[in-house]
Amino acid sequence: ASYARIGQVEEQVRAYLTLDEEGAMEAARRLDDKLVSGEARGLLFGLPAGIKDNISTEGLRTTCASQFLSGFTPVYDATVVKKLKAADIVTLGKLNMDEFAMGGSNENSSFYPVRNPWDLDRVPGGSSGGSAAAVAAGEAYFTLGSDTGGSIRQPASYCGVVGLKPTYGRVSRFGLVAFASSLDQIGPVTKNVEDSAYVLQAISGYDSMDSTSANVEVPDFLSSLTGDVKGLRIGVPKEYIGEGVDPSVKETVMSALHVLEGLGATWEEVSLPHTEYAVASYYLLASSEASSNLARFDGVRYGVRAENPDNLLDMYHKSRSEGFGSEVKRRIMLGTYALSSGYYDAYYLKAQKVRTLIKNDFDEVFKNYDVIIGPTAPTTAFKLGSQVDNPLTMYLNDILTIPVSLAGVPAISVPCGFANGMPVGMQIIGKAFDEATVLRVAHAFE
Ligand code: GLN
Repeated sequence: ASYARIGQVEEQVRAYLTLDEEGAMEAARRLDDKLVSGEARGLLFGLPAGIKDNISTEGLRTTCASQFLSGFTPVYDATVVKKLKAADIVTLGKLNMDEFAMGGSNENSSFYPVRNPWDLDRVPGGSSGGSAAAVAAGEAYFTLGSDTGGSIRQPASYCGVVGLKPTYGRVSRFGLVAFASSLDQIGPVTKNVEDSAYVLQAISGYDSMDSTSANVEVPDFLSSLTGDVKGLRIGVPKEYIGEGVDPSVKETVMSALHVLEGLGATWEEVSLPHTEYAVASYYLLASSEASSNLARFDGVRYGVRAENPDNLLDMYHKSRSEGFGSEVKRRIMLGTYALSSGYYDAYYLKAQKVRTLIKNDFDEVFKNYDVIIGPTAPTTAFKLGSQVDNPLTMYLNDILTIPVSLAGVPAISVPCGFANGMPVGMQIIGKAFDEATVLRVAHAFE
């Protein structure tokens, strides 16, 4: 059924980079045998899923939507993929994205952009645009995305689906092609909150293969979906509903807050005073980490190698010049500059200090509130091509998701209505490792 649907709409949506119908059918047959033999079934038994193309899949091409890796097939599965296979999913294919997860509209895919299923002239968001569009268009039952500064939540918001960024450390990053290692997290994109809890349950947990994996207990997320939010204290940051946020987006989120109020929750305006510095510090930190992480793409170890180089250095130069797209190059240059001697203190170190202030803002609010709620993004999905020429405008779309990433806390984007004819996402932010409360609130609202 998934492949029939893909056959109907994929030509328009373009959510996938690689489809593996043969592999999927084989996996399905194996599950069928399991059913017949009466073997125990995994938590996600038989669910057809798509995987973002920066997550390593053994024997299945993994490109990060980059020309550099256009012919790259990994020899091992990411931990999340192993866990999903153990939970008995069927992998449909690999999902389109912004190159190396750098972007917020999917227009940085070096293959072709994804389109928003609600309006094909609009972007699906990014960088996990394929992950969100595939779920919205019915081309997968659920998908995995990755979120460094909003890349699960913002596309979920633009495409009217549920996207969860877990606490940093909750889900193993082993096998996720690193963009900014101190921020990257893998998470589920689903049609509803219950599915999100199921997938999170399947992929969470300590992994010795990821040195930043957190050795904390994984609760039963499903049992937290009680529908009860009586007495819940919600903080609404004034910075998240002020200037720069589309008034109709704000209105939609405010009515959602009234729904939660009707269910017995209370809300008050709070402040996250360092919000205005988040985008600047994120783009320094993320680019610095990216410049280091992407040094491994040198034409020797992975992917494309340039033809006829004059010498070794020329081979590096040519391979990188030909293999990377312009946004990736921009970030490598910015990051290299910020880390270079003489500038490190002024940029990288300063940005790290700002990151701490931003985290402290969240800690302060969480002393008195259970969750923080606001819009996921300041606008709804914009028209394809309308922002590509201005990276700075594009970066500002992440203003409401980036602070959460810098603080390392979990957040979900859940559809809460429409503005300008397009879906709006409400962002519910929780304390570190308290995905259970985030899911409970989202589920009660939904
Ligand atoms: N849009 C942001 C960026 O371009 C976030 C990307 C992400 O979370 N991977 O960096």
